[in-house]
Amino acid sequence: MSNKTLNLDDRLYDYFLSTSLREPEILRQLREETAEHEMAVMQIAPEQGQFMALLVQLMGATKTLEIGVFTGYSSLCVALALPPNGQIVACDISQEYTTLARRYWEAAGVADKIDLRIAPALETLDQLLANGQAESFDFAFIDADKGNYDGYYERSLQLIRPGGLIAIDNVLWSGRVADPNIQNGSTKALRALNEKLHEDERITLSMVPIADGLTLALKGK
Ligand code: SAM
Ligand code: CA
Repeated sequence: MSNKTLNLDDRLYDYFLSTSLREPEILRQLREETAEHEMAVMQIAPEQGQFMALLVQLMGATKTLEIGVFTGYSSLCVALALPPNGQIVACDISQEYTTLARRYWEAAGVADKIDLRIAPALETLDQLLANGQAESFDFAFIDADKGNYDGYYERSLQLIRPGGLIAIDNVLWSGRVADPNIQNGSTKALRALNEKLHEDERITLSMVPIADGLTLALKGK
């Protein structure tokens, strides 16, 4: 028994997946196709997708935001968990990556739930705010370029309703955030945001050590 978060070795990780992962066939196919991509490590882990789907269901979310789509795995997890009238505003700058995403959204029958905006995400978020959409989203997932995370967090916090949830990915950054010898831009940005959120009284906080670390920030009412 341990009251400290476990380090999962390969055997325990396999057990964890084999006794808990319920990945729909369409997501498995997308994950296998993405695995052949040179940037495959950018995709979230399947257990994280299942966890985010549970959060979306738990909240009864209907309107969500995704910042960083890549080949669409996380957005498809969320889209499948949303009710028929659910909606995702999905932000990315890459036509190339998101072409694969669109193909799978179509195949899964959820393409009409996903409004893909190809533009720098800060611009898309500013447009949503300018169009009067503040406090209208239930859930936001932040998973694009790490240097802009603080900007994505501040805008997402305005865009979600009181009681809405922001999930921020890669907050443990393969352990680099805890290594003072690593001082590159992405690591410093993640470290600074982690420290800021620790003290941020606008939110209820939990840093969940799933996959590469997922911070949950619940907006105060
Ligand atoms: N959530 C995705 C998944 O589970 O498969 C992974 C997202 S990947 C880590 C990051 C994505 O952010 C890439 O697809 C990249 O094109 C996109 N991106 C990078 N800079 C961006 C920016 N300034 N605005 C919007 N998207 C950006
Ligand atoms: Ca990520």
